[in-house]
This record gives sequence, structure tokens and C-alpha cells, in this order.
Amino acid sequence: MQTTKKYPISRRNFIKVSAATTAGVSMFPFGSCNKDNLYEIPAGVNPAIWPEVSKIPFIDTHEHIIDESIRLGNGENFLRADDWTVLFGHYFHHDFVSSGMPMDTYRQLFSSSVDPLKKWGLLEPYWDNVKHTSYGLSVRHTLRLLYGIGEINKESVATLQKRYNELKKPGFYKYVLHDVANIESCQVNTLWDKPINETESPLLLMQDIGISGMFSAFSWSKDVGPQIKLLSGPAKIKVKTLKDWYRVVNWWFEKYGKYAVAAKSVNAYRRNIDYDRVGFNEADPIFSRRVNNTALSEEEEKKLEDHLFWYTTQVAADHGLPIKIHTGYYSGYDYMHLTNVSKNPAYAAEMCLHGRVGGRKFVFLHIAYPYQHEMVAVAKHYSNAYVDLAWAWIIDHIATRQFLKQYLTAAPINKIFCFGGDYIPVELTVGHAYVARLGISQVLTELVDEGYYSEEEAIEVAWKIMYKNAREFYRLEEKEKLLKDVKWGTSDYAKKRENPWKKY
Ligand SMILES: [Zn+2]
Repeated sequence: MQTTKKYPISRRNFIKVSAATTAGVSMFPFGSCNKDNLYEIPAGVNPAIWPEVSKIPFIDTHEHIIDESIRLGNGENFLRADDWTVLFGHYFHHDFVSSGMPMDTYRQLFSSSVDPLKKWGLLEPYWDNVKHTSYGLSVRHTLRLLYGIGEINKESVATLQKRYNELKKPGFYKYVLHDVANIESCQVNTLWDKPINETESPLLLMQDIGISGMFSAFSWSKDVGPQIKLLSGPAKIKVKTLKDWYRVVNWWFEKYGKYAVAAKSVNAYRRNIDYDRVGFNEADPIFSRRVNNTALSEEEEKKLEDHLFWYTTQVAADHGLPIKIHTGYYSGYDYMHLTNVSKNPAYAAEMCLHGRVGGRKFVFLHIAYPYQHEMVAVAKHYSNAYVDLAWAWIIDHIATRQFLKQYLTAAPINKIFCFGGDYIPVELTVGHAYVARLGISQVLTELVDEGYYSEEEAIEVAWKIMYKNAREFYRLEEKEKLLKDVKWGTSDYAKKRENPWKKY
């Protein structure tokens, strides 16, 4: 990716670049944003903006990071083979398959029974096809900033493997997130089947309450929801009627609502987000049949889910929690229904319209890519609609830049959150945070050049969209006070679990 050299490299940048090179770090065209390398300005970016954007910490509004002790213990259960390929195994590996890598090669690449040093030979034939995708960009910047690897190849893979292992020691989460990626705190949507993780790092890894199971089934299963057995067990409530189920939903929010930052739904992977208003009298008999394991028709199943969606989101709103909704692109390969995805923005608008009753606030994650233009209109129009660029920078960097630029000149800037790594391995937040800072700086540079902002205004906007908006909206000061004293820690329950998404 070459940009015009409108802003020449200053002497100070030159010194930084030289220092990086002598330290054995390969030159990379984009520069760097970690704290030791603040001033290496990417080509084409306004030199007054870049250092400021580098210094602003991100509030990371969406992650799937597992606790550090789990990662250092039985992390392999969550991440396939625990070697350098972890860095390529979320989400970059999906581009490998899409580019034509056979499934057998794919399985070997991420297998713990193959020698890590022999694995580069499996990836190399596909490397040129994928290295310039946005997933690839994030991984390559991670290799550069975190491991000092400028180019991965058959020579450097051994160094990467060595450094991958060396980095993983107690305290590395804080080092990676705070010191290198400059992230103040994360908001984690746990991938275990429990709605929330009683994390050992509650201030660093703040938590969302996963609500999909309260109204639906696991995203890729053929089961009928809600997840009665799983969620009623911890609540110790015997569920026979719809009202019993309400008590289960209430229990989760009463127990965790004050500590959580938001509620989160991934239900858009399973169906469209067209939740009709279905009344109690209609849903009650369907729920009873569900409890008795009587087969439900597709129409009945949808009615039950729709009813429970509105119930659950009302409980979230009553606990002061915004509701994060997955929209747009599907992680993975060979199964996405774009016919469904294309309707996400229109149904997001309907959701805001009906959800205003009861004070529900919706955050649409991933900007409904590739239908992001319509999300500008949703956020501009609805006072309870917010958008989040989580994951978007590494799905399609250019589209996300265009979206941000369009958004900033169309919709209120207090309703956008600009970074969520969306990763399981903590290491990858480094590259993702870098490409997000790059995109934000590029957009602000253009807006200054085109006369929309002064440089000072651009920097003020950067503080809001990277940091202040999320701190205020998710009430982080209040949450921090509560989380400081919470008695959590990784439970035995969590230790035993396998990531149910691993096989994807
Ligand atoms: Zn996610």
C-alpha cells in the first residue's frame, strides 16, 4: 500500500527509523505506533495528527480474549496448536481457505502434531494471495511491532516461533495491551457457553453479558432456543413456564448487570435481526411446548425468539446496559447468507424504532459490512443507534476508512466507537490497533486537507472517537469502582471448558 509522500519524513522520523533498523527490525513502509516508536509517521499522514493519535489510548469495545492463566495453561484447547500459527489462526486463516488452500493442508497448518518449523512450507504457496488482505495487514504489523519480524519467510519463522514462546509468560497481557497496543481496557464477549466470564483481570478485560442464549440457541447449532438447561442451572431455577424463564434471565442480570459494561448478541449469525413484537399470550404456549420438547415449526420458533429478544433487551436496558448487536459480515468461509446480511441495516432501523420504548440503546457492531453506508443513515436518524468499528478495520480497511470519513461528516460524533480487536489471541490486538490508528489518521488527514477540520479539531475528534465516547457511554468510571473490589478469578467451570467456536 503506497501513499503519496505529501508529508516528507522529518529528521526525527529518520532517526527513529534508523534506530529500528539497527536493532534488527526490518523497515516497514507504515511506521510504528508502540510507545518506543511513536514518531515514525506513515507516508501521507499529517505529521501533527499521527503522534497524537499514537498517544491516545484506545478503549477497546469488543474482544473475545480468554484469561491469561488459561492461555498459559490449557490455551491449546482454545487456540488449536499453541505455536506461531496462533497468530494466523484468528481470522486470517479464513482468507487461506478462500484463496484455495485445501482443507487437509489447513488442518495440518493448525495441528499440534506437526513441527511448527515445518509449517511455513504449508502456508507459503498461498502467502502471496493473502498477505495484502486487511486480516493480513493486521497480522504483519503484529509480527513487526511485537516480534520485530519485518517479513515472514522460511528463515524468519524460527525466530518468530522462539519469540512467540518467549513472550508468553505471566504479565504478558498487560504488556501487550497497555505497553505495546496502547489499549486502556477491553470489553470481552466470552466465547464460552456461559454468558459472562468471572475474569481474573476485571479492570483490563471488562465483560459483556452474552444474551443470545437467553432468546435463541447457539449460533451454528440446529437446536431450538433458548438455552434452558445451560442458563437455568447456575440460577437454580426449575423452568416450566415462560414466567420461570423470565426469572432466569433476570437472575443473570441481577448477578452480573452492575459489573458488565453491555449486553451482547451474536444472533445475526443464525438468522436475520427482524424481531417482531410478539405478545406474552402468543409466546407462552409456544414456550410450554418447547419445555416439553414438542417440535416447533419454524414460525413458532421465530415467534418465541422474537418475544424473548424484546424481553431480554428490556431487562438489559433496565440495568442501564447498552445492547451490542452483531451486524454484517460472517467470520469463517463458505456459508454466509448475504441475502440476510443485506437486510441488517433496515432491520437495525426497525429495532431502534421499536426499542426506543423502554430506553434500549443499540450498538451495531462491525457496521453491517458490506452495507455500511446505510448504517450512517441509521445512526444519523435514531437517537438510540450507535455504531462500532470493531473488526471492520481488518475485514476491509479501505471500506472502513470511507465509512469513518462519511460518518464524521454526516452523523453525531458521540455515537461512534472506533476500535474493537475482536480477537481471541491477545497478541493480535497490536497489529489491529495499529491499522485502526493508521485508518483514523488517514481519515483525519483527509478531512483537514479538504477543509472540514482544523488540525486542532481533528485531534479533539480523535480523542472522542478513540477514547472519550466509550468511557462515557459505557460508564467506565462507575464500572471501574465496582470492578476494583469484585471477587472474581477464573473458575473451575471456565478451566474445564473448551471453546465451542474452536472448530470454526
Ligand atoms: Zn466478535
